[in-house]
Amino acid sequence: MFKMKELPYGANALEPYINAGTIEFHYGKHYKTYVDNLNKLIAGTEFEHMSLEEIIKKTHSHPQYQGIFNNAGQAWNHEFYWQSMSPNGGGHPTGELKSRIEKDFGSYEKFREAFKNAAVSQFGSGWAWLVDNNGKLEVIKTSNADTPIALGLKPLLTIDVWEHAYYLDYQNRRADYVDSFLDHLANWDFAAK
Ligand code: MN
Repeated sequence: MFKMKELPYGANALEPYINAGTIEFHYGKHYKTYVDNLNKLIAGTEFEHMSLEEIIKKTHSHPQYQGIFNNAGQAWNHEFYWQSMSPNGGGHPTGELKSRIEKDFGSYEKFREAFKNAAVSQFGSGWAWLVDNNGKLEVIKTSNADTPIALGLKPLLTIDVWEHAYYLDYQNRRADYVDSFLDHLANWDFAAK
Protein backbone atom coordinates (compact mmCIF):
# COMPACT_ATOMS: atom_id res chain seq x y z
CA MET A 1 0.00 0.00 0.00
CA PHE A 2 1.43 3.30 -1.04
CA LYS A 3 0.56 6.40 0.95
CA MET A 4 0.41 9.85 -0.59
CA LYS A 5 3.59 11.83 0.06
CA GLU A 6 2.90 15.02 1.97
CA LEU A 7 3.07 18.30 0.09
CA PRO A 8 6.27 20.09 1.19
CA TYR A 9 4.35 23.42 1.50
CA GLY A 10 0.81 24.69 2.00
CA ALA A 11 -1.66 24.63 -0.91
CA ASN A 12 -1.48 28.44 -1.18
CA ALA A 13 2.32 28.70 -0.79
CA LEU A 14 3.02 28.97 -4.52
CA GLU A 15 0.59 31.85 -5.12
CA PRO A 16 0.30 33.94 -7.20
CA TYR A 17 2.11 31.68 -9.69
CA ILE A 18 0.07 28.56 -8.94
CA ASN A 19 -3.10 29.15 -6.97
CA ALA A 20 -4.38 27.03 -4.07
CA GLY A 21 -7.31 25.76 -6.15
CA THR A 22 -4.93 24.25 -8.69
CA ILE A 23 -2.78 22.58 -6.03
CA GLU A 24 -5.85 21.29 -4.14
CA PHE A 25 -7.21 19.64 -7.29
CA HIS A 26 -3.85 18.51 -8.58
CA TYR A 27 -2.68 17.02 -5.28
CA GLY A 28 -6.01 16.03 -3.75
CA LYS A 29 -7.73 14.65 -6.87
CA HIS A 30 -5.30 13.87 -9.69
CA TYR A 31 -2.31 12.65 -7.68
CA LYS A 32 -4.59 10.88 -5.16
CA THR A 33 -6.30 8.99 -7.99
CA TYR A 34 -2.94 7.71 -9.31
CA VAL A 35 -1.95 6.45 -5.87
CA ASP A 36 -5.39 4.89 -5.22
CA ASN A 37 -5.50 3.21 -8.63
CA LEU A 38 -1.98 1.88 -8.24
CA ASN A 39 -2.88 0.34 -4.87
CA LYS A 40 -5.92 -1.34 -6.40
CA LEU A 41 -3.96 -2.66 -9.39
CA ILE A 42 -1.06 -4.13 -7.39
CA ALA A 43 -3.12 -5.69 -4.57
CA GLY A 44 -2.33 -9.39 -4.46
CA THR A 45 0.22 -9.23 -7.30
CA GLU A 46 3.99 -9.67 -7.46
CA PHE A 47 4.26 -5.86 -7.34
CA GLU A 48 2.51 -5.45 -4.00
CA HIS A 49 5.64 -5.10 -1.86
CA MET A 50 7.98 -3.41 -4.34
CA SER A 51 9.10 0.21 -4.24
CA LEU A 52 7.63 2.62 -6.79
CA GLU A 53 10.98 2.66 -8.63
CA GLU A 54 11.06 -1.12 -8.86
CA ILE A 55 7.48 -1.26 -10.13
CA ILE A 56 8.27 1.37 -12.77
CA LYS A 57 11.38 -0.47 -13.99
CA LYS A 58 9.64 -3.86 -14.09
CA THR A 59 6.49 -2.65 -15.89
CA HIS A 60 8.05 -0.19 -18.35
CA SER A 61 7.70 -1.41 -21.95
CA HIS A 62 5.48 -4.33 -20.94
CA PRO A 63 2.09 -3.68 -22.55
CA GLN A 64 0.34 -6.17 -20.25
CA TYR A 65 1.32 -3.95 -17.29
CA GLN A 66 0.48 -0.61 -18.92
CA GLY A 67 -2.10 0.32 -16.28
CA ILE A 68 0.29 -0.36 -13.40
CA PHE A 69 3.11 1.49 -15.16
CA ASN A 70 0.92 4.53 -15.88
CA ASN A 71 -0.24 4.89 -12.29
CA ALA A 72 3.16 4.14 -10.75
CA GLY A 73 4.89 6.55 -13.14
CA GLN A 74 2.38 9.28 -12.45
CA ALA A 75 2.64 8.77 -8.67
CA TRP A 76 6.43 8.97 -8.84
CA ASN A 77 6.51 11.93 -11.24
CA HIS A 78 4.06 13.93 -9.12
CA GLU A 79 6.06 13.29 -5.92
CA PHE A 80 9.13 14.59 -7.76
CA TYR A 81 7.19 17.56 -9.13
CA TRP A 82 5.92 18.70 -5.69
CA GLN A 83 9.54 18.81 -4.57
CA SER A 84 10.70 20.52 -7.77
CA MET A 85 8.88 23.69 -6.66
CA SER A 86 9.41 26.00 -3.72
CA PRO A 87 7.80 29.27 -2.59
CA ASN A 88 11.35 30.71 -2.62
CA GLY A 89 12.45 29.12 -5.87
CA GLY A 90 13.18 30.22 -9.40
CA GLY A 91 15.92 32.14 -11.13
CA HIS A 92 19.52 31.07 -11.28
CA PRO A 93 20.94 28.03 -9.50
CA THR A 94 24.04 28.49 -7.37
CA GLY A 95 27.16 26.56 -6.44
CA GLU A 96 28.11 23.33 -8.15
CA LEU A 97 24.83 23.07 -10.03
CA LYS A 98 25.37 26.52 -11.53
CA SER A 99 28.83 25.46 -12.79
CA ARG A 100 27.52 22.20 -14.20
CA ILE A 101 24.66 23.94 -16.03
CA GLU A 102 27.09 26.46 -17.49
CA LYS A 103 29.47 23.67 -18.53
CA ASP A 104 26.85 21.43 -20.15
CA PHE A 105 24.50 24.05 -21.67
CA GLY A 106 26.88 26.97 -22.21
CA SER A 107 24.97 29.34 -19.91
CA TYR A 108 21.93 29.52 -17.64
CA GLU A 109 20.06 31.31 -20.42
CA LYS A 110 20.72 28.45 -22.83
CA PHE A 111 19.53 25.94 -20.22
CA ARG A 112 16.41 28.06 -19.65
CA GLU A 113 15.67 28.17 -23.37
CA ALA A 114 16.12 24.38 -23.74
CA PHE A 115 13.92 23.62 -20.72
CA LYS A 116 11.21 26.03 -21.80
CA ASN A 117 11.28 24.70 -25.34
CA ALA A 118 10.93 21.09 -24.10
CA ALA A 119 8.03 22.02 -21.80
CA VAL A 120 6.17 24.04 -24.42
CA SER A 121 6.77 21.66 -27.32
CA GLN A 122 5.71 18.46 -25.52
CA PHE A 123 2.65 17.61 -27.62
CA GLY A 124 -0.30 16.69 -25.44
CA SER A 125 0.32 15.49 -21.89
CA GLY A 126 3.71 14.94 -20.34
CA TRP A 127 6.70 16.33 -18.50
CA ALA A 128 9.92 18.27 -19.10
CA TRP A 129 13.01 17.34 -17.09
CA LEU A 130 16.52 18.35 -16.21
CA VAL A 131 18.39 15.04 -15.96
CA ASP A 132 21.87 13.73 -15.32
CA ASN A 133 22.81 11.33 -18.12
CA ASN A 134 25.99 9.60 -16.96
CA GLY A 135 27.47 12.80 -15.59
CA LYS A 136 26.18 15.16 -18.29
CA LEU A 137 23.18 17.40 -17.65
CA GLU A 138 20.50 17.29 -20.33
CA VAL A 139 16.94 18.48 -20.86
CA ILE A 140 14.41 15.89 -22.01
CA LYS A 141 10.65 15.60 -22.28
CA THR A 142 8.49 12.54 -21.65
CA SER A 143 4.92 11.74 -22.68
CA ASN A 144 2.05 10.81 -20.39
CA ALA A 145 3.43 8.77 -17.45
CA ASP A 146 6.88 8.15 -18.90
CA THR A 147 9.68 8.94 -16.51
CA PRO A 148 13.48 9.27 -16.74
CA ILE A 149 14.01 6.63 -14.07
CA ALA A 150 12.60 4.02 -16.47
CA LEU A 151 15.23 5.16 -19.00
CA GLY A 152 18.21 4.90 -16.64
CA LEU A 153 18.55 8.68 -16.26
CA LYS A 154 18.78 10.57 -12.98
CA PRO A 155 16.19 13.36 -12.74
CA LEU A 156 17.04 16.64 -11.00
CA LEU A 157 13.98 18.80 -11.70
CA THR A 158 10.64 18.43 -13.45
CA ILE A 159 7.62 20.41 -14.60
CA ASP A 160 4.23 18.80 -15.18
CA VAL A 161 2.77 20.04 -18.47
CA TRP A 162 -0.49 18.08 -18.34
CA GLU A 163 -3.27 20.67 -18.69
CA HIS A 164 -4.54 19.97 -15.16
CA ALA A 165 -1.27 21.46 -13.84
CA TYR A 166 -1.93 24.95 -15.22
CA TYR A 167 -5.32 25.32 -16.88
CA LEU A 168 -7.13 26.97 -13.93
CA ASP A 169 -4.37 29.60 -13.65
CA TYR A 170 -3.14 30.02 -17.22
CA GLN A 171 -5.83 28.42 -19.45
CA ASN A 172 -4.07 27.60 -22.74
CA ARG A 173 -0.99 29.76 -22.01
CA ARG A 174 1.43 26.95 -21.20
CA ALA A 175 4.45 29.14 -22.00
CA ASP A 176 3.45 31.62 -19.26
CA TYR A 177 3.15 28.77 -16.74
CA VAL A 178 6.63 27.55 -17.74
CA ASP A 179 8.03 31.08 -17.31
CA SER A 180 6.51 31.30 -13.82
CA PHE A 181 7.97 27.92 -12.92
CA LEU A 182 11.45 28.87 -14.10
CA ASP A 183 11.50 32.40 -12.71
CA HIS A 184 9.67 31.93 -9.39
CA LEU A 185 9.25 28.28 -8.39
CA ALA A 186 12.08 25.99 -9.58
CA ASN A 187 13.57 24.41 -6.45
CA TRP A 188 17.31 24.49 -7.13
CA ASP A 189 18.16 23.30 -3.61
CA PHE A 190 16.20 20.12 -4.29
CA ALA A 191 17.78 19.72 -7.75
CA ALA A 192 21.28 20.11 -6.25
CA LYS A 193 20.59 17.28 -3.81
MN1 MN B 1 -0.23 16.27 -12.90
